[in-house]
Amino acid sequence: MPRPMRRRLVLRALDAAGCTFVREGAEHTVYACPCGEHKTAVPRHTDVTAGVIGSIIKQLPCLPKGWLQ
Ligand SMILES: [Zn+2]
Repeated sequence: MPRPMRRRLVLRALDAAGCTFVREGAEHTVYACPCGEHKTAVPRHTDVTAGVIGSIIKQLPCLPKGWLQ
């Protein structure tokens, strides 16, 4: 079960996993994975809920298990 996380720590983990910034939206920041086939959107809130953390992990299946938590 995923745990909630601070947004800045999610962004740091994306960076460390080799993901790249795509664009800033009104409500989300979009990142692409290193393989180029997957994207994810991080909400622009200080705290990211456990449900969204689970979605981010699912949206980037090419990353190694445990990359985010
Ligand atoms: Zn990928």
